[in-house]
Amino acid sequence: MGTILKVFSPFPGHNSCNFFHSSSSNPFPKAHNEFSTTSSASYRIRISNKLTNFLDLKPESGSKPKTIDLDLPWCDSNQDHNINHPSLHFDVVIIGAGPAGLRLAEQVSSHGVKVCCIDPSPLSMWPYNYAVWADEFESLNLQHCLDRTWLTASIYLDENKARHLDRPYARVCRKKLKTELMQRCISNGVKFHKAKVSRIDHHEYFESNVLCDDGKQLRASLVVDASGLSTPFVEYDKPRSSHGFQIAHGILAEVDSHPFDLDKMVFMDWRDSHLRNEPELRFNNIRTPTFLYAMPFDSNLIFLEETSLVCRPALPYMEVKQRMAARLKHLGIGVKRILEDEKCFTLIGGPLPRIPQSVMAIGGSSGEIQPATGFMLAKTMALAPVVAGAIVECLGSTTKIRGKVLYGKVWNSLWPLNRRCEREAYSFGMETLIRLDLDGIRRMFDTFFDLDSHYYYGFLSSRLTLEELTSFAKDVFCRASAPTKFDIITKCPPLVIRMIGNIALENIKN
Ligand SMILES: Cc1cc2nc3c(=O)[nH]c(=O)nc-3n(C[C@H](O)[C@H](O)[C@H](O)COP(=O)(O)OP(=O)(O)OC[C@H]3O[C@@H](n4cnc5c(N)ncnc54)[C@H](O)[C@@H]3O)c2cc1C
Repeated sequence: MGTILKVFSPFPGHNSCNFFHSSSSNPFPKAHNEFSTTSSASYRIRISNKLTNFLDLKPESGSKPKTIDLDLPWCDSNQDHNINHPSLHFDVVIIGAGPAGLRLAEQVSSHGVKVCCIDPSPLSMWPYNYAVWADEFESLNLQHCLDRTWLTASIYLDENKARHLDRPYARVCRKKLKTELMQRCISNGVKFHKAKVSRIDHHEYFESNVLCDDGKQLRASLVVDASGLSTPFVEYDKPRSSHGFQIAHGILAEVDSHPFDLDKMVFMDWRDSHLRNEPELRFNNIRTPTFLYAMPFDSNLIFLEETSLVCRPALPYMEVKQRMAARLKHLGIGVKRILEDEKCFTLIGGPLPRIPQSVMAIGGSSGEIQPATGFMLAKTMALAPVVAGAIVECLGSTTKIRGKVLYGKVWNSLWPLNRRCEREAYSFGMETLIRLDLDGIRRMFDTFFDLDSHYYYGFLSSRLTLEELTSFAKDVFCRASAPTKFDIITKCPPLVIRMIGNIALENIKN
């Protein structure tokens, strides 16, 4: 964690959160005027067909995934099945060319370690719209990979309360980030293989064979699984039933207009007046709330995402879309074209993979997604150099440390004791959020953003130490309103006991 703290620079806009009441001058984007004053009957009449049908619109680029125009150095294609050929032997084989896999590949290879990265479609564009706090990418010197920055991130708690954080938030330019990481890989000598890994066999002499679906086998001293959340290669000691679900439906859309300020992104909009005339949706939303996340690019282009931050059981995806449709109608947003859509069905929290094990993991497969927020990208970009350092220390030296010692060192570089304990605290946050209804969530976030900004910015960037997380929790409790205190007292004691038990267990295992 010490390394991570050094990597990040102090926050801009410390303590600069503003707080508004509805009476203050125009803090809210306006709902569509016609609709907001109409009755249920006129609501139905006034919705245009275009709005009603936007859920049926298909993304225009849908069928043809975009690709990156680079000439990749491929793993020797002449040595198809001869695993003994040296051109098929690597120090490290990385499964997956997502953000985590490529970041680790470029970091490890920059020290002269021989790396191969396998992915069924290495040049395809990543499918998701990633966003980060701009300072996180600046501290990694990756700010040129951001394509749009909003100076303010707004949170709408209800119809009367909003907060505006003066911490710039940015969308990552997937093309720039992927191209940059790939170019670094290419100049460091990383080889690529276009296939899907189907099996990994571990052998004596500390080697692993990686079998691909095209029949090709590669040999490596270390295999790193960066194949994302649904990995089949990572093992767990505990059942994964304790995870939560983050469900979201997002669209990058051309719209006739929208009510949002162009210099503010909407980090969370918990208002629910759009469901006033939809009793069933409203009732469910009170129990398992969703919020709107929006990044306005110009007056006609916007990314909109209806999101369940974390829930268990999973909220039906169709319901998330219906809530979004109702919200957009209420805001008077007419969708003309969908340029991209994204479906988020993410498992968050739950147990960490068994530490150590013969396959190393990084990114979504390694449990790195922050259980209470779903963020991961900036953290992975920051952690990959740390993991690469441990790999290089073992494989880059003349003595070559392999087998169990290697696995132990690399796993502990990603998940040292302090980070494992911190993750327990973030998982506690996730479990608390799962148990709160809409009003509980609103009150909790009201308290959260009332704290010193060091705490809430640190929490959102997963950079609080266990000591800071403890003071943060105490502060939340002290500042909480009576109903929030009641929520904490009635819902959290078993969670606190479980968290303390897990932290004690981690300390004993260490
Ligand atoms: C919709 C969505 C939006 C998100 N938005 C954000 C965000 O804004 N900010 C943020 O911080 N985090 C975000 N996250 C969380 C996290 O950053 C992403 O999930 C991120 O993509 C994880 O990166 P990864 O490299 O671990 O895995 P992935 O991006 O899933 O990449 C895995 C790669 O491995 C390949 N692969 C899979 N199986 C195999 C196999 N058997 N053999 C070879 N290759 C294989 C896949 O083809 C893919 O290229 C988001 C997640 C989702 C689902």
